[in-house]
Amino acid sequence: MATETRSIDLEQITNLTFDQVNKYLTRFDAEHPCEACGHSEWLIDEVDGKALFVSSPLAHNPDQGMVFLPLTCEKCGNTRFLNAAVIAMDIAKNEANNVKAE
Ligand SMILES: [Zn+2]
Repeated sequence: MATETRSIDLEQITNLTFDQVNKYLTRFDAEHPCEACGHSEWLIDEVDGKALFVSSPLAHNPDQGMVFLPLTCEKCGNTRFLNAAVIAMDIAKNEANNVKAE
């Protein structure tokens, strides 16, 4: 297991569109069936075309926090929280590679 403290680019995260996040989830086949009910449709909340993220303050330092993408099971409401920094970094890397390939 690796440990890491990363500084996050909040603006980069909050500017991610629904489409970018949806493509990310498809690329990683992240929509495995819900562990609670077996349903396989997940909802990403969006506002004005941007994916909706939530943040959570750190218990040992409330001035710092982590940002997550909630993925909600359409059927039972079970919610997965994906680390937004990982998502944003991967999307940026993937888009840079696509630009090079063109
Ligand atoms: Zn479910």
